[in-house]
Amino acid sequence: MTTPTDLTAALSIIVGATHLSTEPDVLAVRSVDWTGRYRGAAAALVRPGSTEEVAAVLRTCRDAGAYVTVQGGRTSLVAGTVPEHGDVLLSTERLTEIGDVDTVERQVRVGAGVTLAQVHSAASAAGLLFGVDLAARDSATIGGMAATNAGGLRTVRYGSMREQIVGLDVVLPDGSVLRRHPRVAMDNTGYDLTSLFVGSEGTLGVITGVDLRLHPVPRHRVTAVCGFDGLAALVRAGRMLREVETIAALELVDGRAAALAAEHLDLAAPVPADWLLLVELAGDIDPTDRLAAALDGVSLCGPPAVGVDSVAQQRLWQLREAMAEVVGMFGPPVKFDISLPLSAVASFASDAAALSEKTAPQSIPLLFGHIGEGNLHLNVLRCDAEQEAALYGPMMELIAAHGGNVSSEHGVGSRKRAYLGMARESGDIAAMRTVKAALDPTGYLNPAVLFD
Ligand SMILES: Cc1cc2nc3c(=O)[nH]c(=O)nc-3n(C[C@H](O)[C@H](O)[C@H](O)COP(=O)(O)OP(=O)(O)OC[C@H]3O[C@@H](n4cnc5c(N)ncnc54)[C@H](O)[C@@H]3O)c2cc1C
Repeated sequence: MTTPTDLTAALSIIVGATHLSTEPDVLAVRSVDWTGRYRGAAAALVRPGSTEEVAAVLRTCRDAGAYVTVQGGRTSLVAGTVPEHGDVLLSTERLTEIGDVDTVERQVRVGAGVTLAQVHSAASAAGLLFGVDLAARDSATIGGMAATNAGGLRTVRYGSMREQIVGLDVVLPDGSVLRRHPRVAMDNTGYDLTSLFVGSEGTLGVITGVDLRLHPVPRHRVTAVCGFDGLAALVRAGRMLREVETIAALELVDGRAAALAAEHLDLAAPVPADWLLLVELAGDIDPTDRLAAALDGVSLCGPPAVGVDSVAQQRLWQLREAMAEVVGMFGPPVKFDISLPLSAVASFASDAAALSEKTAPQSIPLLFGHIGEGNLHLNVLRCDAEQEAALYGPMMELIAAHGGNVSSEHGVGSRKRAYLGMARESGDIAAMRTVKAALDPTGYLNPAVLFD
């Protein structure tokens, strides 16, 4: 039988002693989620420096009967990196190679531990653009974003991570390596395994490298923040604007969040309103007239704030970018990442506010997110652990009752695994379990994630 000491000694030989830690302080920091709400316990942290080292680590842990939790930037908002079984934490932070940008094929190959901000810089230096962006860009890694099929601020234009991934390297739970790097645009040879691993949340293998699709940079951009008295009117405008050619962003911000930003961050809202909509168009021809035409006839509660240069545009984005800070103002919020039919957004918002008030009378429910896809984040501030326990299930029921999905872009992680049945039929879940069992028969990889 392998003892914990044997295991750490074997892992140390694979990665080198400096890349293995069993220090309680280090493990405690790595065992808590981004929000600080969910905490687990780990036996060791291991930081392999190559695909081959990842493979050897996985084989060794599997043979020792140890559980492994994969960690990228640890920005998961569904507790996807919290170890529940005294796991070995496998961090991708040393997989940071960035290849040359291929400006002809518009691609770049990067290691799984490269951050989103580093990809943006590499693409920009080559005169190109990466199509996914999100507020955790300085920490979130490409491997973690691929594993969760992350969406974000540009999904309305470029789609989510799945649309950006051309190929990848994955270490399977048995330690074998799958490499898919298609050299041609059309490839119908068998199963789309790349897609299978994107969004699998580390349950089927460890992604170690990704080929990313890049895009041309639009020459012109115009940004506006529009104010609305009611959410239904904003949603109507959003439904129309998402169809406008050259749409580049369509973001909802709750007026209550804007008020908190003004009070606590000294950040004035671009327009005074109960609900705000940030809309951006970008293209090779100046889209300012097109935006003006699109907004003509929309019932705004006042003139929009418009930015035609990058300084003004950054100013207009400030409030949306401050949302992570706003929702953390009263301690960790209770987070719901929801996908809703646009027709249900306004009624859900008022029902959710009523439910929050009933369950946690002092709470502040704030809604923001990517309205183009009905992909929204409800954050309930000032809600303690007891109130969270009472609120979480009924809120999930409410989302389902409005025709929504209990997870939109953050994935299932461990926080939502009990609610998988609200999003998928039993036959579907059974097929997913069959895939998991085929690749990871002992279930040692990311054991807390996705399935109950
Ligand atoms: C301020 C803030 C804003 C955010 N905004 C958005 C947003 O707009 N859109 C959005 O989609 N998400 C958003 N998120 C959530 C989060 O950033 C994404 O889920 C991101 O994709 C996670 O990347 P990560 O490297 O931090 O992954 P981690 O949090 O480290 O891991 C996420 C999951 O993927 C697994 N994993 C990590 N790396 C790998 C790998 N290499 N191979 C296999 N499995 C792996 C982990 O085990 C875990 O289950 C936000 C988070 C924060 C804190």
